[in-house]
Amino acid sequence: MSASTPEQKTYNVLPGPRMGLVTPDYLEEIAAAARRHGVPFLKITGAQRLAIAGHRPETAEKIWQEMGMPNGPRKPVGIHYIQACPGRQWCKYGRQDSLALGREIEATLLDLPLPAKTKVGVSGCQFNCCESYLRDIGVFGTTKGWTLVFGGNGGGAPRIGDVVGEGLNDDQVLRLARRCLDFYRERARKLERTGRLMRRTPLTELEAALRD
Ligand code: SF4
Repeated sequence: MSASTPEQKTYNVLPGPRMGLVTPDYLEEIAAAARRHGVPFLKITGAQRLAIAGHRPETAEKIWQEMGMPNGPRKPVGIHYIQACPGRQWCKYGRQDSLALGREIEATLLDLPLPAKTKVGVSGCQFNCCESYLRDIGVFGTTKGWTLVFGGNGGGAPRIGDVVGEGLNDDQVLRLARRCLDFYRERARKLERTGRLMRRTPLTELEAALRD
């Protein structure tokens, strides 16, 4: 993502850190690049990524290359980001391991071609810190396993997603999420988000497709 001000300054969202996890080394590397290029500030985005701001457009490519990202941020088609909370491993309220599931989703679904940008939120419990009901694919943990939500959106056309599975284990989440995304790919118009698709699609159609 990038944008320009009247002074032709821009910002870019780096295609990491994954699920908001950073190491001291990564932060030092980012800080060094920011100092080298006179970047005035870094912003932690709502998607748990880092935005570098206020530099000239032509330096963006250099910064990506220095960070080992020669192609820059991912194009906004397909899974755009996977957000995950600390989950059972680190949070006292956690019921399931959201970081581990986030990594599994990344490994199996990240490169799936989709009609439009698709956001994934994985929350370790029903407090839903990753706003899973407002993600295209949302997952949250309970004592009985994972609940999977499809078709949520938190932007200009907000929509609470539909619960399509409960009491799931990790493998069942991956399979069901894949089937939801297949349904989305087959039915959506170009650049149509899951929320808009589900506004014009009866839930029974999705449920029937997931049963087949
Ligand atoms: S969703 Fe639950 S487990 Fe995750 S950070 Fe929030 S309270 Fe903790």
